[in-house]
Amino acid sequence: MISIKSQTELEKLAVAGRLSANALMYGGSMIKAGMTTYELDKLIHDYIVKNGGTPTFLGYGGFKGSACISLNEKVIHGIPSKHEVIKDGDIVTIDTGATVDGWCGDNAYTFPVGKVNEETLKLLEVTKEALRIGIAQAVPGNRVGDISHAIEEYVRSFGYGIVKEYCGHGVGRTLHESPEVPNYGAAGKGPRLMPGMVIAIEPMISLKGDAIRQLPDGWGVVSKSGAPTAHYENTIAITKDGPEILTKATI
Ligand code: MG
Repeated sequence: MISIKSQTELEKLAVAGRLSANALMYGGSMIKAGMTTYELDKLIHDYIVKNGGTPTFLGYGGFKGSACISLNEKVIHGIPSKHEVIKDGDIVTIDTGATVDGWCGDNAYTFPVGKVNEETLKLLEVTKEALRIGIAQAVPGNRVGDISHAIEEYVRSFGYGIVKEYCGHGVGRTLHESPEVPNYGAAGKGPRLMPGMVIAIEPMISLKGDAIRQLPDGWGVVSKSGAPTAHYENTIAITKDGPEILTKATI
């Protein structure tokens, strides 16, 4: 069942979304070549706690970080590690969620570090735009498939791969709710979007090929081709006036 949130609930989700977004942008601003993903995670953890939230991902399904930090060919669910050092030329995907007053936010962004090659920068730009194009379809009366199809069509026009095993999702008191929001599919199919629904839209895109591989740590997911991957995500509310981004940073 897809839950419809009241105005009061939407306001609480916006508070959680704002902190999730601020933590993400703060994390992005702190990335430096030479630091470990563990150190970056610690900064994000402390930021969320200092600002009145709880890191949603910490302990979720046994996850051992406050943020998912995924480098280069790793697309999602990277576990922060003391042994993983960020280098110049890397791309760093940070995925953060903050829970405030029992409500969650979820968002992600891929940050380039230092000098990143043109091909990879183009992947980031296209994936970010795919998110924007997906969000534009999140209007009452449309169906989930309209979001999925718009993302797929745009991304495929560049010949990129789409991660199909993972997808966007409803957000509320828990991080993952109905409906699933895939990054591929047929327009006009799937649940109908209605005001009060809150969903995370999150294209996960690879420079080459759709196939992925799960790392032995049981969490990290990498492109099978080894090609760089990008991931951008916002939590949005469907409103009668159109999509409203709840994970909007104010720092
Ligand atoms: Mg998500």
